[in-house]
Amino acid sequence: MLESAKKLLQSHFGYESFRVGQEQAITQVFEGHNSICVMPTGGGKSMCYQIPALVMEGTTIVVSPLISLMKDQVDALLAAGIPAAYINSSLGFDEVRETLMDVQRGAIKLLYIAPERLDSEMFLNELQGVYVPLIAVDEAHCISQWGHDFRPSYRLISRMTELFPNNPTVLALTATATPQVREDICRILNIEEQHTIMTGFERPNLTFSVVRGQDRERFVKEYVAKNDNEAGIIYAATRKTVDSVYEMLLKKGIKAAKYHAGMPDHERKSGQERFLNDEVTVMVATNAFGMGIDKSNIRFVIHYQLPKNMESYYQEAGRAGRDGLPSECIVLYASQDVQTQRFLIDQAQDPSRIPGELFKLQGMVDYCHTENCLQQFIIHYFGDSTAGPCGHCGNCVDDRESLDVTKDVQMVLSCVIRMGQKFGKVMTAQVLTGSRNKKVLDFGFNKLSTYGILQHQNAKEVSNLIEFMISQELLAVEQGSFPTIYVPDGGRDVLLGKRQVLRKGAVITKRIASNDPLFEELRVVRKKLADEAGVPPFVIFSDKTLQDMVSRRPQNEE
Ligand code: ADP
Ligand code: MG
Ligand code: ZN
Repeated sequence: MLESAKKLLQSHFGYESFRVGQEQAITQVFEGHNSICVMPTGGGKSMCYQIPALVMEGTTIVVSPLISLMKDQVDALLAAGIPAAYINSSLGFDEVRETLMDVQRGAIKLLYIAPERLDSEMFLNELQGVYVPLIAVDEAHCISQWGHDFRPSYRLISRMTELFPNNPTVLALTATATPQVREDICRILNIEEQHTIMTGFERPNLTFSVVRGQDRERFVKEYVAKNDNEAGIIYAATRKTVDSVYEMLLKKGIKAAKYHAGMPDHERKSGQERFLNDEVTVMVATNAFGMGIDKSNIRFVIHYQLPKNMESYYQEAGRAGRDGLPSECIVLYASQDVQTQRFLIDQAQDPSRIPGELFKLQGMVDYCHTENCLQQFIIHYFGDSTAGPCGHCGNCVDDRESLDVTKDVQMVLSCVIRMGQKFGKVMTAQVLTGSRNKKVLDFGFNKLSTYGILQHQNAKEVSNLIEFMISQELLAVEQGSFPTIYVPDGGRDVLLGKRQVLRKGAVITKRIASNDPLFEELRVVRKKLADEAGVPPFVIFSDKTLQDMVSRRPQNEE
């Protein structure tokens, strides 16, 4: 059968050979295994069911949520001489009747249906008696609440399979590969895990990095100036930020366009055109920009603000370097953006989806705080744990010294435990820094032995430390309308002293009494630096510098 599949690929579609994954998917369908095929957008998933549909006896049903694309797909199939049809809400009663009759007399090889059709008993009755060898579930992530586009009707697909006495094979297809989504799909559609086909999530020509704690405007100005004449996209989370970044670039004399849903149609379109035709080099946009955009020479994608989850991030960042040439993907991280995203999630979602969205946001925050390879992080996130470090991302080339932060981590952990593991990050940071916040006092946390134990750090540093700990799985988040943090096994090991924690470029602050000789020494160094380099009078010393200074102190001080 595979032989005839290959012939069809050439004769009907004009392609020489199968792409990675296609052959395996097709073979599994022929063998009658329910399967899931995970490939990035553009990977060639359609072929995985279209070819079997042609080879096998009967009518293959394709469930697809994209009504607007259904017609295009069917037209393309018809043009290739393949009898195909679709049924969705865009058809009138008579057209549906007619199509169903074609199906019933076996004249249709591929029938596309919108999931909402499955809500109708009447529709399902019409299908009884049709021989269906294969049910393809396109955009299968719609079946999962963890996916980014949950469609309750997708849950009815498993019932539809029971309609046919021959027990059709099910092939689920998606570009979303997070483990939870995959598990949901497999559970609901009765797919064994070993029948997963997953390919092609690595993008070796992309160099990922996360920039933290820098002036973003300045970063962007300098970056764009340095990469003069290179095409790039700058994504921001809000229209307001798009406008202000855009204005800033124009003032610098940079040829830029902007794109967001608040602009009139024609302005948006003309901006997009000018970007596609290389008349301007930089596009500043919200995530409304990019769907279906085919521009291969995008050299950088900068996220000026935190994206809402890894799925969106990888999709947006993935618009860089389609031509295979080296390109950069940068996230500019500032912790206040997490609040912005939380706010947007709260606003936009029906309440049952909020915990899932918050969980995914945490994944994005973890990405920004991990010290491991970023490319590997992404690929792991999408479920492939075999990838090694890329060797060229921001983290792979980061040679800052790693400092031992075990003590600080232990303090945070013990504070979380003392607070009963029932509170969120903000409250925990407040307790650790000795905040007089009313809630802290109401709960009596000012009486804990860990109250104010990190008060020599500011709240931002402590919340960064907490995020770092979450990204390292030393702390975990219990999602809910009030997400709380608790200590998982990894954290317990640190508390028990079984494990040391290193953190790159960590800031270890120490309180130094004003009568400590080191105090005067630091003051002098600080002033000297300020005078010489024009740096602000607040200087952060690395732990090593401090140690050096301490060890240089005369021993016989008294
Ligand atoms: P997906 O659904 O995974 O996003 P599509 O099925 O729409 O991707 O296919 C993307 C493009 O790849 C289409 O233009 C398709 O014709 C093309 N394509 C699919 N399989 C092959 C192949 N074996 N060789 C060459 N091109 C292919
Ligand atoms: Mg597709
Ligand atoms: Zn790397």
